[in-house]
Amino acid sequence: MKIIDGKKIAEEVKNEIAKKVQQWIKEEKPVPHLAAMIVGEDGASKTYIGSIERSCREVGFTSSIYQYPETITEKEFLDAIDFLNRDDEVDGYIIQLPLPKHISTEKVIAHVDPKKDVDCFHPINNGKLFLGEAEFLPATPYGTIELMKRAGIEANGKHCVVVGRSNIVGKPLAMLLAEKSPQGNATVTICHSRTKNLKEVCASADILLVAIGQPEMITAEYVKEGATVIDIGIHRIPDNSKEKGYRICGDVKYDEVAQKCEAITPVPGGVGPMTMTCLMLNTMHAYERKH
Ligand code: NDP
Repeated sequence: MKIIDGKKIAEEVKNEIAKKVQQWIKEEKPVPHLAAMIVGEDGASKTYIGSIERSCREVGFTSSIYQYPETITEKEFLDAIDFLNRDDEVDGYIIQLPLPKHISTEKVIAHVDPKKDVDCFHPINNGKLFLGEAEFLPATPYGTIELMKRAGIEANGKHCVVVGRSNIVGKPLAMLLAEKSPQGNATVTICHSRTKNLKEVCASADILLVAIGQPEMITAEYVKEGATVIDIGIHRIPDNSKEKGYRICGDVKYDEVAQKCEAITPVPGGVGPMTMTCLMLNTMHAYERKH
């Protein structure tokens, strides 16, 4: 059984990005710049923004954080987006969701310049993804596909079962696996909360990709002997036996599922580290298209 080391692969990708940045510096070019917009004081959002800043530093990008109070009006926020759209030094930016209720998320996303939409939320970028002409890929599906590629997991001709159909994970991931492309060419089944016989469908997968947000729901019974399992879920579960008082787990019951697999991603250390790395890759792609 092979444990797919997402942490190591993410480091590999980050080193490749950092080398390119060093080359641009030698050529006296500017370095890529990623901005993040955040409304309010949510603790989890702040942690995420902190890890964006850290990742940017690691690869040599510059970053800026635009923090707004909860009371910002929709108009003021849209104006702030216009400012980033016009700012030539900003190659890409993310908007931390959810936004306060008085700000329309749809309006906000539609306002983002698709060329700077490194989270790939804009309808134009989602449409391009659907057409196989993507300029950006949503970070988690991108990370999943890149991880599979670099770990030598081929989807070509295989039956991939994707459990979860969210717009940011399950749906785009299924699309990419079905795409006529070197990392695609799979026969794909998408499952969700209304799927009948979920266990049987999952157990027919050569590659089972799980993004359901249900801690350790996928047990050994859902998995075919010799399958590859990609666990996208991430949860913090209270656990008094741990020093921190919690443990991190995925949507897959790792210990029992791993016994049956040819390959599996752990949580933490699987898809997770690839997500942030792919946000860096998207920023690099936005920069490269401009320079
Ligand atoms: P959503 O809650 O948006 O979507 C969950 C999907 O799973 C839905 O399609 C839902 O079905 C389906 N689902 C929920 N319960 C079941 C069930 N019992 N049986 C079958 N299907 C079910 O979650 P996300 O897509 O945003 O995230 C999924 C997981 O991935 C989460 O654990 C999240 O924390 C993790 N995640 C990890 C990231 C990373 O970097 N590693 C990044 C983003 C997410 P229905 O549509 O019918 O409601």
